[in-house]
Amino acid sequence: MPPGADKQAQALAQAKELFPGGVNSPVRSFAAVGGNPLFFKKAQGAYLFDLSGKPYLDLVQSWGVHILGHGNKKVVKAIQSQCKLSCSLGSPSIQENKLAELIKDAFPSMEMMRFVSSGTEATMSAIRLARAASNRQLIVKFDGCYHGHVDSLLVKAGSGVLNQVSSASSGIVQDQIQNTVSLPYNDSEALKRFFLEKGTQVAAVIVEPVAANMGLILPVHGFLQCLRGLCTAHGSLLIFDEVITGFRLAWGGAQAVFGIVPDITCLGKIIGAGLPAACYGGSKQLMTLIAPLGPVYQAGTLSGNPLAMAAGYQVLKQLKNPETYQQLAEKSAAFYQKLDRAIDKTRFGLAQCQSLFTIFANPRPVNNLSDALASDSLLFGRFFHALLAKAVYFPPSQFEACFIGNRHSAKALDRLAQSIQKTMELI
Ligand code: PLP
Repeated sequence: MPPGADKQAQALAQAKELFPGGVNSPVRSFAAVGGNPLFFKKAQGAYLFDLSGKPYLDLVQSWGVHILGHGNKKVVKAIQSQCKLSCSLGSPSIQENKLAELIKDAFPSMEMMRFVSSGTEATMSAIRLARAASNRQLIVKFDGCYHGHVDSLLVKAGSGVLNQVSSASSGIVQDQIQNTVSLPYNDSEALKRFFLEKGTQVAAVIVEPVAANMGLILPVHGFLQCLRGLCTAHGSLLIFDEVITGFRLAWGGAQAVFGIVPDITCLGKIIGAGLPAACYGGSKQLMTLIAPLGPVYQAGTLSGNPLAMAAGYQVLKQLKNPETYQQLAEKSAAFYQKLDRAIDKTRFGLAQCQSLFTIFANPRPVNNLSDALASDSLLFGRFFHALLAKAVYFPPSQFEACFIGNRHSAKALDRLAQSIQKTMELI
């Protein structure tokens, strides 16, 4: 038995009695790769430490939260200081203003915003706002994009939903999804045809501008421009779900990288530094429809939580230094170059964008959900477990993205590229 196996078994047995599948979010289970989820007790920089203290190189980084690595000193200090002042004020606070000013600096399209506690709440509220503003009901999304577990957005959703037997969730009434249309990602023609027929009924199109929940899939040239054009022409709102891409791809997210201005933006993950914070925002004109100024009701006991605000502020302050993204990009590019060589002529393929990447067990180009689903899940399972045995913690599904943070050293990434190459040769 490997060291610590008994502690793992004990923890899992107890968790299985307490939580469905022993986990509090299905993506943490190993359902897609087989075997049991690992318990970790702490994290530092680029590493997670299991119950016996063994370090694993972490490519999950709390699902994209920790761009500065685990345990960033300034973040920890800010949380400690804020704790002494208050964990939750239940009133407006200066901390909210400070974080919002930085977000607005990075995302000028978010003239006003509203803090919530999760990405799910952000997208749910964004579509409510879009429906109110347009006085229409239809929402268009894309197959394999994941926007949280909002009933109406779980239709053909990505992430953990892809490991479900059906392409949505049971327990959702038909009424909740009858106004959701899901189209293939990267297919401008399908979108144009749909808008030709029903464009005047579309309240909003919601999209992950770089899709990262069916594995990583970049938008093909012209796709996001087409979305923007059709929405503008038909009076529909364009919602960029930047819960992953916001502050990940660049200061200003995917909208800065691709030069497209959405009507509403949703952010999460990085802005809370590992504490529950997310937000949605847009023009002043739109956002004044939100209560208490307007008729769209949306609220939250812990919204704008001061611990999360203080922590997020420290992260964004560090990200504002352009060198942070520059270094991350350079380190990631060097790693991808090595990976590219290692992957050539194997049964695997690499998709990458800045510090986000996916290794598909599929050597062909992956541009949409059907391409992604053509990947060999058994082969990926073997790949995952072989890397885990080498103390590398990959996301336990090929439909999730891997995240490189600024605490992943060039040396660790070099070793990782070598481990990946050897693993591919052996399995
Ligand atoms: N939108 C995207 C693009 C996501 O990746 C996620 C979660 O991974 C969400 C929304 C939902 O965020 P949360 O898990 O914080 O509810």
